[in-house]
Amino acid sequence: MDDSVVRDVVAMGKFLGSLDGIGVLGVAPARAKAKAPVRLAVSADPAGVEVRARSADAARSPAASPPLALPSAPVRSDRDAAAAELSLTAIRDEIGDCKRCRLCEGRNKIVFGQGNPVADLMFVGEAPGADEDAQGLAFVGRAGQLLTDMVEKGMRIQRSDVFIANVIKCRPPGNRPPENDEITTCQPFLEAQIKAVRPRVIVALGATAGKFMAKTGDPIARFRGRFASWDDIPVMPTYHPAYLLRTPSAKKTVWEDLKLVMDVLGTPAD
Ligand code: SF4
Repeated sequence: MDDSVVRDVVAMGKFLGSLDGIGVLGVAPARAKAKAPVRLAVSADPAGVEVRARSADAARSPAASPPLALPSAPVRSDRDAAAAELSLTAIRDEIGDCKRCRLCEGRNKIVFGQGNPVADLMFVGEAPGADEDAQGLAFVGRAGQLLTDMVEKGMRIQRSDVFIANVIKCRPPGNRPPENDEITTCQPFLEAQIKAVRPRVIVALGATAGKFMAKTGDPIARFRGRFASWDDIPVMPTYHPAYLLRTPSAKKTVWEDLKLVMDVLGTPAD
């Protein structure tokens, strides 16, 4: 086993171990550096797109898993955090006490989303749950804690350095999936948030966010793990933390997806 494989196994163990709560110590979170993406073991396909083996196993057996094209994250010059914050404030003001769709009837608080206004990495989930509806903050329940672990212990980024939002801002009754017309009505706010933050990579969490961001009607199991694009920003669809709470065996799959995100950000795990 070569050194890169050992490092990969150790990193995955920290991620999975910390999420499972089995006492494996996580790595101290550190701010991800927004640099040009680092290319690992790349080659050029006939279209001139750099490709990278998906995992160490795939690298050893390329026939078993085709190489995956890695997109380039947009290179950002120094960002004006105050201007981005102002833009976000204007979007929140525009939402106001929104009654544009039926979800206003059952909500307690609008969940706008929160985080670094000039984040390199943005997470987009489906909709607020009960905890989020009560607090007015995105991803603060059990699934939110798991997302924090994914970001801080797995990706070694402070949660406060990413931006987190949902496709819709109000909790659907009984946590049902949002209807298409609700998504259509609310989506201008998310689109405006993305334009304000201008992240270098977006992670779409779960089927609703994944389908919306990747513009597909396929089941998420079919398109997760492969970059889509939103306004030239690479989008990685993966499973929702709430699904991981129900299906811990899927954590390894999500870690593979997040490692690709880290590659594109230029902060590879191995
Ligand atoms: S879900 Fe969006 S469009 Fe519907 S009421 Fe809430 S903020 Fe308004």
